[in-house]
Amino acid sequence: MERLRLIPSIDTLQKDEVFEAILQEETVSKALLTKWLKAIVDDIRKQILNGEFPFHVKNERDFALIIMNRLQKRYETFTKRNNLQPVINAAGVVIHTNLGRSRLSDRAIEHITETAKHYSTLEYEMTSGKRGSRHSIVEAYLVEMTGAEAALVVNNNAAAVYLVLKALAEDKEVIVSRGELIEIGGSFRISEIMRLSNAKLVEVGTTNKTKLGDYKTAITEDTGMILKVHKSNFAMIGFTEEVDTEALVKLAKEHGLVVYEDLGSGTFYDFKKANIGAEPTVQEQVKKGIDLISFSGDKLLGGPQAGIIVGKKKYVDRLKKHQLARVLRVDKFTLAGLEATLKTYLADRESGEIPTVRDILLSEEEIYERAQTFLQAVEEKMEGFTCTLKKGVSKVGGGTMPEVDLPTYIVEVTHQTLTSEALAKKLRELATPIIVRIKNDAVQLDFRTVTDGELQVVIEGFLEIGKRQ
Ligand SMILES: *Cc1c(COP(=O)(O)O)cnc(C)c1O
Repeated sequence: MERLRLIPSIDTLQKDEVFEAILQEETVSKALLTKWLKAIVDDIRKQILNGEFPFHVKNERDFALIIMNRLQKRYETFTKRNNLQPVINAAGVVIHTNLGRSRLSDRAIEHITETAKHYSTLEYEMTSGKRGSRHSIVEAYLVEMTGAEAALVVNNNAAAVYLVLKALAEDKEVIVSRGELIEIGGSFRISEIMRLSNAKLVEVGTTNKTKLGDYKTAITEDTGMILKVHKSNFAMIGFTEEVDTEALVKLAKEHGLVVYEDLGSGTFYDFKKANIGAEPTVQEQVKKGIDLISFSGDKLLGGPQAGIIVGKKKYVDRLKKHQLARVLRVDKFTLAGLEATLKTYLADRESGEIPTVRDILLSEEEIYERAQTFLQAVEEKMEGFTCTLKKGVSKVGGGTMPEVDLPTYIVEVTHQTLTSEALAKKLRELATPIIVRIKNDAVQLDFRTVTDGELQVVIEGFLEIGKRQ
C-alpha cells in the first residue's frame, strides 16, 4: 500500500505537460478533463487495493506517465469519434433501422442546412408579418401528393397512432382484427399504444382470418373507430382472409364510425409497377375513402423521421387542436427535410434523387459493376483473403415488404486464419466503419447501398486491413 502514497495529487497532475497540451487544443473543458483525471486516479487506487495493478512503479513520475497515458487515450476517443458517427452500410438492407433508416436527398440536406444556419419562417406568416403555424409548412404538398383533404406531421408514426387514438377514440371502443395486432421493432405494440391512449381494444376474427361479419357484430354504441393496421414486418401464408378496405369504409359510414389505417411504411412511389412487392401507395389508400391514414417519413418515403397523417379535414382539424399535437410536434429541421423531399416527389424526381427509392430500384447490373470495381481493386493485393462474387438478395428493411427479395450481387470475403466475426470487427474499427452481414461463415458485402464515393472508402478500408494482416 506504500504505492498509494506515490500517486501524484490532482494539482500536480494538472501541471503535467500532457494535461496542458490537451487543454491547448481547446476541444474539451478543464473541468471535464479534471473529472476524467480523478476517475482514472480512483480506478488506479482501486486496482492497487484489489491487487490488480500490474505495473511496477517506483516514484511519482512513473505514476504520472501511466495516468497521462490513460488520459490521452480517453481524450482521443472523445475527439476522434462521435457517438453518432457515419458508417457505410454494406449489409444489403436499404431501410436499416439501426443505421438510421433513410439517407436524405441532397436537396433535403441543403434545405436543412440553410434552416439550421438562419432564422426562418417556421411560425411566421410572410404576407401579414404575423404569427403563422408550422402545420402549414408541408400540408399543401401532402394534400397535393396524396389527394387527401388535410394533413398533419408529428414526431414519428408511433406518435401519429397515439395521437389519433387519444384524440378520436379515448374511452371508446376500437375494433381491430386479431391478424393485425402487431409489434414493430421490439417496442411498438398496437395493444400497448391503445392502452396508453385509453381507447378500448376490441379484437375480432382470428389470427389468420377476419371477415366483415366479425367487424359488424362487434359494433356497439360505445364503438368509436375501426382501425386497420398494415402488416409491415411479417407476411401470412396459407389460409388467410382479411376484409377489403372499401368494405370497412362502407361499414364504418353506415354506423358513423371513424376508419383509420396505420399504413406503416407508406409509399408515394408505386413499387408494384417495378415488380417490387405489393405495397399500396398512400394515394391509392386515400382514394378508398379512409378517414385517416398515417405512415412514417423515414421508411419507404425516404425522408426524415416523422409521422405523417393525411385524411378528412374535420378529423385532421381535431388532431391539430389537441394538446398532444403540441407535445408531439416536429422541429424545423424535420420540416425542412420533409419539404424538400415532398417537392422532389412533386417534381417526379424521386427515383433518381431520393436515396431510399433509388437504392430499392437499383438493378442487379449496376450492383454487379460496383462489385467488379471492388474485386479488381483488392483481389490481388490482399494476401490470405479470398473474395468470391455471387448472386444474392438485398432486403428493403425497416419492417417493410419482408417477403420481397431484391436480386443483387454480393462479394463474399474470407481469410485463411481470421474468423468472419473478427474481420467484421476490423471493418467496424476503421475510421469510417463498414457494416457487413455475416453468412455461411463469411463476410458478405452488398453494394446496393454503397455509393460510388463510399465504394472507394470501402476499397481503402480493405487494403488497410490487408496490409496489417
Ligand atoms: C414502422 C411502423 C410503425 C412505427 O413507425 P415509426 O415511424 O417508427 O414510429 C407503426 N406502425 C406500423 C404498421 C409500422 O410499420
